[in-house]
Amino acid sequence: MNGIMMQYFEWNLPDDGNFWKKLKEDAKHLSEIGVTAVWIPPACKATGTNDVGYGIYDLWDLGEFDQKGSVRTKYGTKQELIDAINELHAHKIGVYFDAVMNHKAGADRTEKFMAREVNPDNREQRTSDPYEIEGWTGFDFPARADKYSDFKWHWYHFTGTDFNQANGKTAVYQILGQNKDWADNVDSEHGNYDYLMYADIDFDHPEVIEEMKRWGAWVAKELNLDGFRLDAIKHINDQYMKHFLDAVRAERGQDFYAVGEYWKPDKASLDEYLAAVQYKTDLFDVPLHFNLFQASEQGKDYDLQNILNDSLVKTHPALSVTFVDNHDSQWGSSLQSQVQSWFKPQAYALILLMNVGYPCIFYGDYYRLGDRESPHRLIIDILLSARKKYAYGEQRDYFDHPRTVGFVRMGDDEHPGSGLALLISNGENGNKVMNVGEHRKGEVWREYTGNVKSEVTIDEQGNGNFLVEGGNVAVWVKKDA
Ligand code: CA
Repeated sequence: MNGIMMQYFEWNLPDDGNFWKKLKEDAKHLSEIGVTAVWIPPACKATGTNDVGYGIYDLWDLGEFDQKGSVRTKYGTKQELIDAINELHAHKIGVYFDAVMNHKAGADRTEKFMAREVNPDNREQRTSDPYEIEGWTGFDFPARADKYSDFKWHWYHFTGTDFNQANGKTAVYQILGQNKDWADNVDSEHGNYDYLMYADIDFDHPEVIEEMKRWGAWVAKELNLDGFRLDAIKHINDQYMKHFLDAVRAERGQDFYAVGEYWKPDKASLDEYLAAVQYKTDLFDVPLHFNLFQASEQGKDYDLQNILNDSLVKTHPALSVTFVDNHDSQWGSSLQSQVQSWFKPQAYALILLMNVGYPCIFYGDYYRLGDRESPHRLIIDILLSARKKYAYGEQRDYFDHPRTVGFVRMGDDEHPGSGLALLISNGENGNKVMNVGEHRKGEVWREYTGNVKSEVTIDEQGNGNFLVEGGNVAVWVKKDA
C-alpha cells in the first residue's frame, strides 16, 4: 500500500471546540490530495479545554461528560468526533487515535501514601528516606458515574508523582508499597525513564493492566478506529505494550495499525524497542527527523550523502513512519527541533517520493501554525501529486555528492508513464546524470515543480542530465505523461 498519513493537529490550535467539525469538513479534500489516514489529536478529557490532550484526565470521557469544566474537549464533543470519523471513513481515510497511557493528570482529590524523593537526573538514586506525602492520585470521575467503567484510580495504581500537597514541594516522588518499583522495561535515560510527568501509571499492577486493555478494545470499537498512535512509549513497560496491542487486535483484527512515539535520535534504542515488542508496532523515524533538522541547520556544510544514515527507514523500512516535523518538534514546543523552512521542500520530497517508509505530513506544515499560514502547502500538494502519478517502481540512489543528491524511481507497468528523477540541493545550482532506463531513450522530460524551466532529452543509454536550483528541489518526469 502506498499510504499517506497526516498528523491532523499542531500544538497551538484554537480552544474553540470546533476542530472535529473542521476535520469533518476537510475529509473530502484530504482524500483528494491522497491522504489515506489521519492521526487525530488526543481526544480524551484532559485537565481543561486549553489542554492539547496529553494532560489526560479520563480515558473514558471522549467529550461526553461535564468534567474538568466542560463536556467538550479542546476539539469538540464525542458526537462531533464520531461524525468526523464517519465522514473520513466515507472517504476511505483511516483514523489513528492518540493513546496517552503513560500518565494521568488533574486528579479529583489527594491521597496520603509513602514515597521517597529521587534524583531527577538519576531516578535510581534515592535522595530522601521514605515519608508520607499527600499526592494527587485519587480519580473518581463523579460526573461519568461509572458509565463504561467503574474503575477508580488510587495511589497504588501509580509508580510516581511530582507534587506533595502537604508541603507544596515539587520533586520526582517514587511511590512506595508492595511490589512497587519503577518499571524495568523502559528507556534507561535518567537511570530509569519510567517517570515522565503527572501521576505515572504502574503497568505492573494487575488491575491497571486489565483496565487499560479493556479501554483499548473499547475505544477502538466505540470510535471504529483503524489504529493507534502510542504516546510516550519509552516511558511505558514495553511488555505491557505488546500485550495491549495483542488484546486490541484480538478484538479488532490483526491489521489494526499502531505507530509508537519513541522520541530518541539514537536508532539502536529504536531497534531494541522493536525487538522487545516483537515488531508489533511501527515507530516514528525520529533519527531521520534529526538528520533533516541538522541538514536544515547546517545548510551547505551538511553532507547530503548522510541524510538517510542511521535512520529507521534504512534498517526497518517497513516499520518506519517518516516525518519532517510534529507538534513536539515545532518551534516553541517541548522537544523543539523544527526543520528550517528552506529545507522543508527537500525533506518532504525525500519522504514522499522514496520507495520506503510510511510518510506522515504535519498539519503545521500543510495548513498553519497558530495564525501563520504555512508557505509549504503548494509544494506539498505538488509532491503529493507527483507521488500519486510517478513515484512507482524500483529506486536507484544517487547519494554521491555532498550538496546535490537524488534518486530515480523507475516506474512500473501498472502506472503508465510513471517514473521520476528527484534531485535535492543544499548548495549551489547543481546537475546530475542519472539513468532512467535504456527503454526511455529519446523521451523528453520536464521538471514537475516548476522550479526548473528547461527540458531534458534522455540519451541512447537512458541517461538524463538533470538540473536542480541551488537550495531547492527538482522532480523530473516524462513530458506529457
Ligand atoms: Ca511511565
